[in-house]
Amino acid sequence: MPSETAAHPSTPAPGRCDLAVVGGGIIGLAVARELVRRLPRARVCVLEREPAVATHQTGHNSGVIHAGIYYEPGSLKARLCVDGARELYDYCAARAISHERCGKLIIATDHSELPRLDELERRGKANGVPDLRRIDAAGIAQREPHARGIAGLHSPATGIVDFRAVANAYARDLLEDGGALALGCGVHEVTTNARSLLLAHARGATEATHAIFCAGAWADRLAIDAGAGPDPRIVPFRGAYLRLVPARRHLVRSLIYPVPDPSLPFAGVHLTRDIGGEVFLGPTALIVGARDAYRLGRVRGADLLDTLSWPGTWRLLARQWRTGLIELRRATRRSAVASAAARYVPELSSDDVRPAFAGVRAQALTRAGRLVDDFVFSATERALHVRNAPSPAATSSLAIARHIADQTQRRFGLGP
Ligand SMILES: Cc1cc2nc3c(=O)[nH]c(=O)nc-3n(C[C@H](O)[C@H](O)[C@H](O)COP(=O)(O)OP(=O)(O)OC[C@H]3O[C@@H](n4cnc5c(N)ncnc54)[C@H](O)[C@@H]3O)c2cc1C
Repeated sequence: MPSETAAHPSTPAPGRCDLAVVGGGIIGLAVARELVRRLPRARVCVLEREPAVATHQTGHNSGVIHAGIYYEPGSLKARLCVDGARELYDYCAARAISHERCGKLIIATDHSELPRLDELERRGKANGVPDLRRIDAAGIAQREPHARGIAGLHSPATGIVDFRAVANAYARDLLEDGGALALGCGVHEVTTNARSLLLAHARGATEATHAIFCAGAWADRLAIDAGAGPDPRIVPFRGAYLRLVPARRHLVRSLIYPVPDPSLPFAGVHLTRDIGGEVFLGPTALIVGARDAYRLGRVRGADLLDTLSWPGTWRLLARQWRTGLIELRRATRRSAVASAAARYVPELSSDDVRPAFAGVRAQALTRAGRLVDDFVFSATERALHVRNAPSPAATSSLAIARHIADQTQRRFGLGP
């Protein structure tokens, strides 16, 4: 859910630094915070295009601290989510950031979903998700009295938090430890020299010995500019939410999720309570014409061209056109989202919902038309790139930061 933005003093963009982090979302801030702590003598600077941190994905999401159930055992997501969730709970407790370990139910409503529920249980247990349990219809009713299903998985370790508040706390840590945070500082050109990178931005230029690019929906463009190949491309998927009217919030106690389609990395329409007590339904998943399409009608020529000229887009659409049509219907008709949610909470109707907010997922799509599921980190000369950090990257932010800081130190030979 979008929340208030805490203002941070923007430090001037330095002319020179040792490590530049491009992007002030939760990943860039976590990475910069980790680097400043490990390398106290290094000059670390975050360059963020917007006037505030956490303006894009970090400030527009479900706010769920995922426990690590869905992900292929052995994948980066599996490892970094389980570790990251544990570290995030500890961090929120230490910093008095409001959060709640409210638990989550994944509900099967149909016998055909049971093999997929079995697979989720196997994955969750292999990934070390704490206290994950199979439950029956009575177990569902006991935990969520208004929900219905034939079987479910209960994850008591899943929780909720406002990720914008977490990102703001990372920014404060960074500044307290001597790092710089230059806002309103969009990087528009990257030039790699023998001894440094020159980052041309809205406030001039910063010469950095090394850089870590954490630019979310714009990750592919900066990577290409720094010398990387074009595959995978970021394709923006808009995720819109509805909110339950206050009188119907009692229908959902915590978090209710469907059994996801294994061929799609998105979790499907779910019902989530946020830290302020509001209940949201969503998100939808529609390919849109701008990487910041918070309004459905927003189109940016360069973004649209990037999506339409990418062979992967057409290959994906050829394979998933049925899902595309369902998502189009959900994106344009409130009742379609409400009826998807009513599969799990039958008392729900479209009279109970109002429009809420939307986020835009930065989803990497290969030339072959595969939606990249796992996190992708890559390197060019003097730089590392976060090329795919979709959900649960916010949950995993502290673990991702350690992973990237390890790579930074190893690849660039940086000691404390
Ligand atoms: C609808 C939705 C629901 C989600 N739900 C969850 C959830 O419940 N739990 C979970 O863990 N995760 C969830 N996620 C995923 C999570 O929000 C993202 O994985 C995470 O926020 C990614 O953080 P980021 O820092 O990589 O990207 P962002 O937050 O998008 O930050 C990227 C930053 O880079 C900046 N930038 C871009 N280009 C430039 C440039 N040229 N120069 C300078 N700065 C630049 C941008 O302005 C932006 O601030 C969800 C995402 C969406 C969209």
